[in-house]
Amino acid sequence: MDKNSVNRRSFLRISATAGAGALLIPGAAASGLNKAVETQKTKFPTRTLGRTGIELPVLSMGVMRADNPNVVRAAYNAGITHFDTAHGYQNGRNEEMLGNFFQDKPRDSFYIATKGKFEYPLRDTFEADYTALLDLSLSRLKMDYVDWFYTHALDSVEQITDERVIAQLKKFKAEGKIRHLGISTHALKPELIDAAVDAGVYDVVLLSYNFKLNNLKETDEAIARGVKAGVGFVAMKSMTGAREDAEGKKKVNSTACLKWVWQNENITTTIPGFSSFDELDECLAAVSDLKLTPDENEYLANLRNQEMLFCQRCGECEKQCKEHLPIPELMRAYMYAYGYRQSSLSHETMAELSLPQEICKSCTNCSVKCTSGFDVARKIAAIAPVRNVPVELLT
Ligand code: SF4
Ligand code: SF4
Repeated sequence: MDKNSVNRRSFLRISATAGAGALLIPGAAASGLNKAVETQKTKFPTRTLGRTGIELPVLSMGVMRADNPNVVRAAYNAGITHFDTAHGYQNGRNEEMLGNFFQDKPRDSFYIATKGKFEYPLRDTFEADYTALLDLSLSRLKMDYVDWFYTHALDSVEQITDERVIAQLKKFKAEGKIRHLGISTHALKPELIDAAVDAGVYDVVLLSYNFKLNNLKETDEAIARGVKAGVGFVAMKSMTGAREDAEGKKKVNSTACLKWVWQNENITTTIPGFSSFDELDECLAAVSDLKLTPDENEYLANLRNQEMLFCQRCGECEKQCKEHLPIPELMRAYMYAYGYRQSSLSHETMAELSLPQEICKSCTNCSVKCTSGFDVARKIAAIAPVRNVPVELLT
């Protein structure tokens, strides 16, 4: 298929999705106001977050995609206590929304986790830059401290064990700006879990964890070692990109996906990124019985070998790509647009990459064989045009 025709059609579809989303916002907000008042406290099973000793419901809120404070209100009213954001989400508006919502709530009635990225290798100004980043997050959140702070999206042992990073994190903790330290990683490498555990300073690890993981056994073993050492584990990407298919047409069964994660009692809680009342309701319904039904087991088994949106980040594609493109990051950008329906996050993800303006230009045929069966060239052709769309026009 001609790459340009894919580009244009996919771009039009993303634009159409953006329009539909914008039209739906007033209705969603209106129904939400009712639900926020009506929502009853849910009886959540709880688990302890490692040596922090903090007891958390197995369901938490990944706030990343949410921009309606009434959804946060509904989650809080339902009994969710842990809210996960990051310095970069929605250009800071995500932290601001949480700050505005929680400013009049008792500080011991919720837990806030945020995350901050740093460039690696570290710049000379790392300490001052990272301090400014955390201080800005705290001022947006209108809080003196966050309950745990993750160094964000790490993918190497060096980043986790770097002495300057650890010294700065310990300083934040001594100053009372952070209660607990953590790392977040999308990298699916058990050695990163081991490095965080062995470093002895990180109390929490936030990691991608779902039924599609190819290296599940090794990951589970590393998690078990971490739990033994007192580290708490929080799962993200539990919905594998939120859609069943590579085109992002059909919503995944979120109940089955969440229940699958909860089967591992070493995972304290998950942070599904619900952004609407219906999505919240689906997550709340899943909590009523954590056990997978035979139908749900069969559903997940049927999806296990199907091409979906979740990239395993095995790195095999990067070795084969003629232009040495950061394909796992591009697959993540694709998942954000076609799975989460959040093309602004795709834009943000790609803006952080060094990409040629004309991507895949040197190839007539793509030589990459993806271990998950992704047609990477088609997905790259579909997502790359989003870089050129003004961010204010995106969802
Ligand atoms: S080979 Fe496929 S699954 Fe592995 S990192 Fe590349 S795109 Fe992801
Ligand atoms: S077509 Fe395939 S091999 Fe060529 S640059 Fe794109 S991803 Fe890499």
